[in-house]
Amino acid sequence: MPNHLARTYQQARSDFLADAARAGGEVISYKHPQTGLEGEELAIDVAQFGGGEASSVLFVVSGTHGVEGYSGSALQRHLISGYLADRSAEQAAALRVVLVHALNPVGFSWVRRVNEDNVDLNRNFIDWGGPLPADAGYDEIADLVVPQEWSADAQEASTAQLLEVVARVGLADFQARISSGQYRHKTGIFYGGAEKTWSHRWLEDHADMLAGSATKVGIVDLHTGLGPWGHGELISHEARSDAGYERGIQWWGEVRSMADGESVSAAVTGDWLGRSQVFLGQREVTAVALEFGTVDVIAVLQSLRADAWLHAYGDPTGPDAPAIRAKVRAAFADDDPLWIETLAVRLDEVIAGSVAGLTN
Ligand SMILES: [Zn+2]
Repeated sequence: MPNHLARTYQQARSDFLADAARAGGEVISYKHPQTGLEGEELAIDVAQFGGGEASSVLFVVSGTHGVEGYSGSALQRHLISGYLADRSAEQAAALRVVLVHALNPVGFSWVRRVNEDNVDLNRNFIDWGGPLPADAGYDEIADLVVPQEWSADAQEASTAQLLEVVARVGLADFQARISSGQYRHKTGIFYGGAEKTWSHRWLEDHADMLAGSATKVGIVDLHTGLGPWGHGELISHEARSDAGYERGIQWWGEVRSMADGESVSAAVTGDWLGRSQVFLGQREVTAVALEFGTVDVIAVLQSLRADAWLHAYGDPTGPDAPAIRAKVRAAFADDDPLWIETLAVRLDEVIAGSVAGLTN
């Protein structure tokens, strides 16, 4: 039975660290240079379990999208008290498990999907040596998506205009324009940044070391906010013809390719799983995002617009802020115990498939 979602990053972090230590995990914390909403220390915390010499390693990552870490953290604790506690010494020797807690700790603490630079980490892992990805149509609607005013009237007017765009181009094209990633509007949503973010550099610097002697790597990156309530879709960054996608089908039965338009997610540029092979060298990498549904897409989008407005034109520590944060939290983390229980059941299935695939 999973724990309830923490109210704050601080609580999630201290619960995770306490559980990991109690279960014999080897914990290393990587401090972030900024502090959190309550002035607290922020960090990426890594807890490792099992064989240091194992030829296979499984990464389970939370908080790539900050606020999505509330459920991700609860699910990681569920793994500590469930799968990791139950496995035999022999099983633990065969597979090292690495829990990465809060890849984007600033967003986690501030209840945002993005990081300290308003950057969506999963749009930041492009090749920064090459040309920027082309605009998918965000330019045209940027000022409607995040207007300067966020009064009830301004929201209503801009939302009506956006719905006209939906009517004109269709929902799939609209989703792509909004969410595939944009690199020109630094206060907009789904912004990919202007350089490698702190979390990007951290992964680049530590992924190889954390994978260690392993030659086979599995990655499950925990997300929320897309799809039907409680449903957990496995999303691959690879095309259906790629070997990693094929392995995913063998491990888990069903995987949806973002690239081939099978997924609840639009095809995006710069997701970190798409770059993970570069960081992990010659190892065989099988990576998926596990995306759990919360509320409908319009509610999710409205929360992201409000959050972007707050940080672009409002005051993130002012009187408007708590209500907007509550709205974002509700869009990405459901405090109904049944929701997290549903997620935990699905995660257990995905972990079982990963373990079988990595230790065969
Ligand atoms: Zn996400």
